[in-house]
Amino acid sequence: MIFSKKEIVLAYTVEKCPKCEKSHKRDFSEGDVLFTISSKCTFCDGITIIEKIFGEILQK
Ligand SMILES: [Zn+2]
Repeated sequence: MIFSKKEIVLAYTVEKCPKCEKSHKRDFSEGDVLFTISSKCTFCDGITIIEKIFGEILQK
């Protein structure tokens, strides 16, 4: 089996606002921890919580 050396792993963070229930995906940044308070909601005055962190592998 040959493994490609051009695999790129992209990590994403999904933030969800408990107030308006909107969620959005952004690039993972260092220090993101699941179920912690993240940033201000862009839709209302709520505070978003990190709901999901996941990675995608891109193969070129
Ligand atoms: Zn909101």
